[in-house]
Amino acid sequence: MGNLYWHNALQYLGILYSEKEETHLDRRRNIFYTRVLLFSGTVTILALVKGLMGTPQWLTVIPFLVFIIFITTSYWLIKSKNFKASKLLFLFGLNLFILTMCSLVSKEKLTFVYFYPLIAIAYVIFDDSDHRWKVVCIVLPSVLMIILAIFDFKLFGNIQFATSDVGSYTMIINIVASVVVIAVCIDFLIKNNRTSEKLLRNMARDIQKKNEDLEKTNTELDRFVYSTSHDLRAPLLSIQGLVNVALAESTQDSAAKEYLIRIGDRTKKLDGFIQEIIDYARNARTELRPEPTNLKELIEEVIKNLEYLEGADKIKFSITVLPNELVFLDKNRIKNVLSNLISNAIKYRNVNTNGMWIRVSVTNEKELSRISISDNGIGIKPELQTKVFEMFYRATDKSTGSGLGLYIVKEILNKMNGHISITSEYGKGSNFVITLPVRYES
Ligand code: ADP
Repeated sequence: MGNLYWHNALQYLGILYSEKEETHLDRRRNIFYTRVLLFSGTVTILALVKGLMGTPQWLTVIPFLVFIIFITTSYWLIKSKNFKASKLLFLFGLNLFILTMCSLVSKEKLTFVYFYPLIAIAYVIFDDSDHRWKVVCIVLPSVLMIILAIFDFKLFGNIQFATSDVGSYTMIINIVASVVVIAVCIDFLIKNNRTSEKLLRNMARDIQKKNEDLEKTNTELDRFVYSTSHDLRAPLLSIQGLVNVALAESTQDSAAKEYLIRIGDRTKKLDGFIQEIIDYARNARTELRPEPTNLKELIEEVIKNLEYLEGADKIKFSITVLPNELVFLDKNRIKNVLSNLISNAIKYRNVNTNGMWIRVSVTNEKELSRISISDNGIGIKPELQTKVFEMFYRATDKSTGSGLGLYIVKEILNKMNGHISITSEYGKGSNFVITLPVRYES
């Protein structure tokens, strides 16, 4: 129970081993840290042995022993891959050890300078994801140094190492050792920087290459889809022609006539599907071609082309748009969009309603044109409204289409920097609103 509590607390503080994937730089950092740890361990043991060989003051041996325990535990944590916990333990131990040494050794030996490399080590061994621990390990030695500077810090009262006559040498050794450690840390940082730069450059090159490959594949795929669809249409159209001829000639056999009508229907549907794929591929592979467009005429033309659709004759169409205004738009694309939306409004009409209607209105603002297509058809269930723009998505079993229409509409509008939104009430009707950036002809 208690164990679990500590485990959870350490995990919360982000000290325990996390599942984070080790990057190349993390690995370098960890190797560097392991070397620092082993080096400190060796130096401490040597210093302890040297101390024991003289006339040892037993109390002063204790800090060395405690620090060796810290180092051993930190090393054990490395072995169990708990790098963060190991680094923290080591740095806290080192801070404590240097603090103790400062209080045991006379001030002239400048033992406190070891706090500087400690800051450098903390800076190097923690990465940015361990930011808070990095800050703690940088602030701690700084605070300890200030405390030492202000107060006459004596951890063990008046007990001190015997002052030897090599005091000034120790001072020089302390300064040189600190400078060397700081230099090693800076060197590591510079090398790390160079490695990251190299990695970034390689990654950028990889991404660029992948992008080029992807673009090539995309273009080839679009070309393939476009030409295949075109090639498929030709035999389909001749089948349709042959069906029409056969229908005209086989007036006697009613069963054969029925089959021919069905073949005709199926080929028409297939042709519609292929036409949709062609529309999609054309949108993807061709550039925008804005031209002066009279939206009123265009909407009338689209509705006229759709008059043959089943049920269209029972619907009342109304158009609200300024008659003579010309806008600069890609006419073919917007025609395709309107055709898709108006044919949907016809297909998904509500046959149980008296007075079916479809209203198309255009309002022009500064550089935006807003086209709204509303109907009092079957509507779309709220939870399906965001999905209708997905590829091959059908929101009703009344659909006999491929579920591609609204996807193509969205793709075309994306290309035109436009936008489409939908509001619909199930059983009452739908309203699609397109917004498009346009220029007006002066
Ligand atoms: P398709 O019409 O081929 O099924 P679309 O992509 O054109 O594919 O439309 C996706 C779905 O959105 C349709 O299956 C239909 O359920 C719904 N939908 C589209 N327009 C309307 C509309 N005006 N009224 C009701 N439902 C619509």
